Amino acid sequence: MCIRDREYSLRVVRSLVEKKDALALLNKHDVDFIEYKNGRGIIGALAAIGGTLDDDFTYELLTYRMPENWGTERQVDQESIREMDNALSDCTYNNVDENGKPLITPRGPDPVLYGVRGENPKAVYDAMCMVKPLEEVERWMICRSNQGTDQHFSEPIKINELTPYNPAVVEGTVDSIPETIEGGHVFFKLKDDTGVVTCAAYEPTGSFRDIIRQLRSGDKVTTYSGVSIHEDEYTLNLEKLVINEVAPEYQLVKPKCPKCGGSTESMGRGQGLRCKKCGYRGDELIEQEVEIERTLESGIYLPDRGAHRHLTKPYERYGREKVLNLEV
Ligand SMILES: [Zn+2]
Repeated sequence: MCIRDREYSLRVVRSLVEKKDALALLNKHDVDFIEYKNGRGIIGALAAIGGTLDDDFTYELLTYRMPENWGTERQVDQESIREMDNALSDCTYNNVDENGKPLITPRGPDPVLYGVRGENPKAVYDAMCMVKPLEEVERWMICRSNQGTDQHFSEPIKINELTPYNPAVVEGTVDSIPETIEGGHVFFKLKDDTGVVTCAAYEPTGSFRDIIRQLRSGDKVTTYSGVSIHEDEYTLNLEKLVINEVAPEYQLVKPKCPKCGGSTESMGRGQGLRCKKCGYRGDELIEQEVEIERTLESGIYLPDRGAHRHLTKPYERYGREKVLNLEV
């Protein structure tokens, strides 16, 4: 495997790659290949060959359904999934969501019954021994994988370097108060020294939005996101947020009356303040900026597990990143 192929592989994970790029590589190495339908499958298949996963990696065990069951509801004992998660939570991940709902069974018509992801082959094999399928399993296999590694994210870029559909890491400053729209999606503006862009945390990200709603202008953050484009406007679809620095927040508070201690009120725009009780007014009566306590803390924040992409690195994997030792 030549180094170019590894570069190609990473390029497929981190950007849009056209079929002609894959064909060029196949022709260069004089590789035989078969295309199905529109033939775009060769883009990813070739990337998998070059994806030697020298940096971080995980394992996934997949069980397959009997062909006669394809397309029907998957029959797996749900309680056994929760029990497996309890027993193996230190070496497997994303088996169930925050409410205990199993996440290991896919929803589409594909032939996979369930898949378990974990740190090593034994972990996912042990998981299979605990999960009780209620239909026949045709076969199983374990793959070494880039899932749960954040492999799609590279070095930070500037807002004016964003490219549609290429995952992006951007360091910037929050530039608006987050706004929740109908449907529960939350948006805020992010700026850096090259521009301003909208960031979105969609409804399925769950409690992640509670963190996003606490952001205030001036907070320093690093966003990890997909990049979509609509009418020439980019949106960063957040998959992870690192809060680097929480800015102080101030509130304007009206002073008490120096004569009687009563509360004061505004007499209208630019008209100053007046005591509500005794009517006192004076130039010293001006609103004071008072710092509000921020409960938001710096750190790494992720969407709820059900909204993770396959490549999203879950909390429990931080500090467990592997490096493949190819020395013999
Ligand atoms: Zn007064």
